[in-house]
Amino acid sequence: MRTVAIFRRELRLYDNPLLQDAERGEFIPVLFLDDHNQQEHGDTLRALFFHALRQLQSSIEAVGGRLYILPSTEQERFFDTVRPDVVRLCEDVEPHSRQRDKQLIDLLNSKGIRVHVLRDSLLSPLPDGTYPSFTQFYKKHFLENVRPLSPIPAPKAINTPSFELPTVPIPEPESEAAQSWFATEEEVQRRWQAFVRAGLAQYEQRRNLPSQPGTSRMSPYVRCGMISLRQMLRDAWGVSEQFVKELAWRDFYSHILYHHPETVNMELRPEWRGFPWRHDEEQFERWARGCTGIPLVDAGMRQLLCEGWIHNRTRMVVANYLTKHLLIDWRWGERWLYLHLVDADLAMNVGNWQWAAGCGADAQPYYRIFNPLLQAQKFDPQAEYIHRYVPELQQAGAEQLGDLENLHRLCPDYPSPLVTPDEGRKRFLQVARQFFGERAQENLPFDRE
Ligand SMILES: Cc1cc2nc3c(=O)[nH]c(=O)nc-3n(C[C@H](O)[C@H](O)[C@H](O)COP(=O)(O)OP(=O)(O)OC[C@H]3O[C@@H](n4cnc5c(N)ncnc54)[C@H](O)[C@@H]3O)c2cc1C
Repeated sequence: MRTVAIFRRELRLYDNPLLQDAERGEFIPVLFLDDHNQQEHGDTLRALFFHALRQLQSSIEAVGGRLYILPSTEQERFFDTVRPDVVRLCEDVEPHSRQRDKQLIDLLNSKGIRVHVLRDSLLSPLPDGTYPSFTQFYKKHFLENVRPLSPIPAPKAINTPSFELPTVPIPEPESEAAQSWFATEEEVQRRWQAFVRAGLAQYEQRRNLPSQPGTSRMSPYVRCGMISLRQMLRDAWGVSEQFVKELAWRDFYSHILYHHPETVNMELRPEWRGFPWRHDEEQFERWARGCTGIPLVDAGMRQLLCEGWIHNRTRMVVANYLTKHLLIDWRWGERWLYLHLVDADLAMNVGNWQWAAGCGADAQPYYRIFNPLLQAQKFDPQAEYIHRYVPELQQAGAEQLGDLENLHRLCPDYPSPLVTPDEGRKRFLQVARQFFGERAQENLPFDRE
C-alpha cells in the first residue's frame, strides 16, 4: 500500500490524523507551496509557518521518512511519478482552499486514486447551514457532536521511498515579531502542559486581563497545526467549560465562512451592506501604528507590531475603536491584523471583526459601543499592560490615564486623542440611526434600541 499525506496546516507528528497509518506500507508526506497563501499571508505568519515546517521536516527525517516540498505547479507530475493508492488530506473552509481541493480531488479521481478527506482544523462536522447565534450552535451542534477522542500516537517509523522530484527549499521570510514564537513541537507541548497545570482551572477568571498570562497563547500553534485541537479539547473537557467554548467559537466562525464565503469582503448581515464607513487613511495609519491617543488601543496596536499577537480583550477594544469611534471600514482593520498577526486565520479574523463592528454573526447590536477608557479601568486596573507597550505613558498612573484632557499635559510625548470616546460614540450613533432608519423604511431587518 502506498499512501500520500498532503500537509497544509497540520505541521506536527503527535495526534495528527494525516499520520494515522504512517507506519503501514510506503508513506509519502508532501507539502505543495501554495502561491495564493504566499501572496496573501503576512511575513509574521509566514515566518512561523515555515519555521514549523522545518521542524516537521526534521521530525519526519528522525523517524526515517522524508517530507517532499514542491511548488504547487508540480502537483500532477508528483502524482504521476509517485502513483499512490490513496491520498490523505484535511478539509479546509477557506474559499480559496476549497476551490484548490476540489480541483485536486477531481484530478485524483480522474487518475483512479482514492482520497480520504479528514478533519483537523475543526472539532465538529460541518453542519448543513449556520446557526443564528453562538449559543444555539454550541448547544445544538457542538455539544451534540463533539466528545474527547483518544490521541493518535506519533509514528515511530516512516518508510518513504525515494523519487526524483523538483523539490524546493523552505522559504525563510524575515520577521522579528515571529521569532519569539519559534518553538519545537516538544516545546509547544511543554507550554501547553504548563497552561493545563497552572492556568486552565482559573481560565474564566483571568482570561480577560491582558497583563496576565491568563490565556493559553496557543493560537499561533493552532494556526500552524503544531498542536492538535483534539488534544486541547481533551485536556479542557470537564475542567474549563469556558475554554471549551472558546474552541467552539473557532468552529462557529469556520462554519460561517464555509457557508458564507462572501463574508470575506461583505457584511454577513444584509442590513449592514452599504453602511457609510469612512476611509480616512491618515486616521487609519495612526490607529495601525498605535498613536490614537487612547492608551489601551495604542497598547494593543503596539503589542501587535512587537509580538505579532494581541490579547483577545484588547483585540475587541482596538476593533471596536476603529469601527465605532473612528467609523473606519472593518475591512481595513481586518486586513491590517491579517497581515501582522502570527495567528492570522481568515475565518477567525473576518468573523471576529464583523462581530466587533456589529455586522457579523451573533454580533452586539450597533448601539453597544465599548468605552476604551472604561475597558482599561476594568481589565488593566494597574495599567501594567498599557505601561508595558506605551512607554511615554510611564508618568501617568492608572487613574490619570482616563483623564484625556490632562493626559497630554502630563505626558507631552503622547499624542492627543484622534477622537474621544464620547465624540466617537455620538457620531457613530448619529450615522447608524440615520442609516438604519432609512433601511427600516425599506423594510430591511435591523436592530432596535
Ligand atoms: C478583531 C479580532 C480579530 C481576531 N483575529 C484572529 C485570528 O486571525 N486568528 C485567531 O486564531 N484568532 C483571532 N481572534 C480570536 C482571539 O482573539 C484569539 O484566538 C485569541 O486571542 C488567541 O489567544 P489564546 O490562544 O491565548 O486564546 P485562549 O483564550 O487560550 O483560547 C484558546 C483557543 O480558542 C480559540 N479562540 C479563543 N477566542 C476565540 C475567538 N474569539 N474566536 C475564535 N477562536 C477563538 C483560539 O484558537 C485559542 O487559541 C480575533 C479576535 C478579534 C476580536
